[in-house]
Amino acid sequence: MNLENINFIKSANQVSQFPEDSGREIAFVGRSNAGKSTALNAIFRRKNIAKTSKTPGRTQLVNFFSVDDDCRVVDLPGYGFAAVSKEKRKQWDKLISDYFRTRDALKGVFLIIDSRRMITKLDHLFLDFYLPLGKSLHVILNKADKLKKFEKIEAQRNTETSLGNFATIQLFSGTKKQGVRVAKQRLGEIFGYK
Ligand code: GDP
Repeated sequence: MNLENINFIKSANQVSQFPEDSGREIAFVGRSNAGKSTALNAIFRRKNIAKTSKTPGRTQLVNFFSVDDDCRVVDLPGYGFAAVSKEKRKQWDKLISDYFRTRDALKGVFLIIDSRRMITKLDHLFLDFYLPLGKSLHVILNKADKLKKFEKIEAQRNTETSLGNFATIQLFSGTKKQGVRVAKQRLGEIFGYK
């Protein structure tokens, strides 16, 4: 599979705007500021495949990209903007939960975590919701360039302890482009390529 062959399809802010629910999809999820956009840009080697909207409260969209024939990558709005209104947060929560509840094409999630902060309460809320769906999960422990060697080992081990039964886990650095090969391999596996 050629992961450089990625093209923007569309943005959606409601379910009716999603592309047809066919083929295979992998969604990128994470707490805002964990480095999801940087990770997407590193993996797909395109500058600004994921544009970062750093303005809290701005409408957050679900962005769909096509990869190869019938595969898509989906950039979901980051959760956890501190300065967002309750109303707006409710809208996002609904959009994201609608996406997960209805989307047959969804084969797996890449969860981006800031390895210095590890799994936060909001990540747990997401996982409580997502894991019962029984789909694949790959955890990216991002910003590993900020960790000392023993901290990396600890981060990987702690995540294995809590999520090892449900997920594959890797250390990663979006800015240093470390771990890209492993991430690509895992994408291919979840998409079902041998
Ligand atoms: P998003 O909100 O999850 O899309 O996060 P961004 O990709 O916009 O990144 C948030 C901040 O973290 C930015 O200042 C990035 O430069 C920084 N960042 C992202 N990935 C890494 C990484 O691997 N290492 C370091 N040191 N900083 C990173």
